[in-house]
Amino acid sequence: MHRFTLGDFELTAISDGIYHLDGGAFFGIVPKVLWEKKVAVDAENRVPAGLNSVVVRTGGETVLIETGIGNKLPKKMAEIYGQPARLLEELNAAGFSPEDISLVINTHLHFDHCGWNTVRRGSGVAPAFPRAKYYVQEGEWKHAHENQRDGVSYFTENYDPLVESGQMTLLRGNHEIVPGISVEVFPGHTRDMQAVMLRSGGQTACYISDLIPTSAHLDLNWVMGFDLYPLETIESRKRYYARAVAEKWLTMFTHDPNLPWAHVEKDENERMRANKPGQI
Ligand SMILES: [Zn+2]
Repeated sequence: MHRFTLGDFELTAISDGIYHLDGGAFFGIVPKVLWEKKVAVDAENRVPAGLNSVVVRTGGETVLIETGIGNKLPKKMAEIYGQPARLLEELNAAGFSPEDISLVINTHLHFDHCGWNTVRRGSGVAPAFPRAKYYVQEGEWKHAHENQRDGVSYFTENYDPLVESGQMTLLRGNHEIVPGISVEVFPGHTRDMQAVMLRSGGQTACYISDLIPTSAHLDLNWVMGFDLYPLETIESRKRYYARAVAEKWLTMFTHDPNLPWAHVEKDENERMRANKPGQI
């Protein structure tokens, strides 16, 4: 288990498990001869991807950032991607129950980021975290209903029942949810994907989500084929690195199977690299 102390906050990295993504889609226009030096690829050209969530204890709140794939994936999707469904066990092993979670923040609503928002109950679904307030951007929720290029990645049962019951709040742009925990929109992967900023004791950590999905995607131009607005991904990364490198933020990676977080630095050749912090 990975834990990190950020000022007065305690961060615990947990995972819904490992799933499989097409290597070409994961690395976009980057030639395979380059990306296969960094990640293992199987006979079907798939690469292992993590489903990393972070639990943040602030003293007053217990916050869950992102909820993985969950256990409701249609059979065909589960065959393609896998459905490890580990998150609740890992939450429990880390010492938390679903009732402990007071806030859930989804960076966006693709199936691999909000699957455990809800669980099956009878013919419908119920919130997996019954006491929690859930947050996502209103623009992302609207986009989830537009059935565009990424329409297959959206399942309404992960969020619409929460919006209808008032348990999920739809945000309009950057917003401080509770002191020290805020969201900031970084367009590129989708128009309204939000990163989660944690600030305590003069330190900053950022769950940057699919803007920089793994430590193998640090180069500005190593943009995923899934991204709807790849040029905006590059601009958003420039904006992110300008602050994250200079101010030594901890960057939390949503899909890295080995490294949930790292300090991102520029080496002597101006290339980005991830520097692993000490762990317990
Ligand atoms: Zn996504």
